[in-house]
Amino acid sequence: MKIGTFFGFEAAHVLPHHPGKCSRPHGHSYRLEVVVEGGLQEDGPATGMVMDFADLKALVRRTVVEQLDHNDLNTLIANPTAEEIAQWIWARLEPELPSLRRLVLWETATAYAMLER
Ligand SMILES: [Zn+2]
Repeated sequence: MKIGTFFGFEAAHVLPHHPGKCSRPHGHSYRLEVVVEGGLQEDGPATGMVMDFADLKALVRRTVVEQLDHNDLNTLIANPTAEEIAQWIWARLEPELPSLRRLVLWETATAYAMLER
């Protein structure tokens, strides 16, 4: 069974290698989707759940969203394309969340980068 949730954050970036307008400082309202996989727990407070959504949301917020939100992404990632940001998020999230299976980072309403395992 897979379950997922999404987050929004606002951040600024510059793409230093881009020949066009992305080389100018600008911002995006990013959307981050996270999917985890597991069996349904058979006892405890999360019985019948893969994972409590509240626990999943708190973990993702604490691990990555709080660092990215209202930040200059170039202070964290040298070339913060959607792809590079997605890799940065995956590298921090996966050790804390081994059941992570998919991460989708929407940079605009019509463009995203996705990692799956
Ligand atoms: Zn941009």
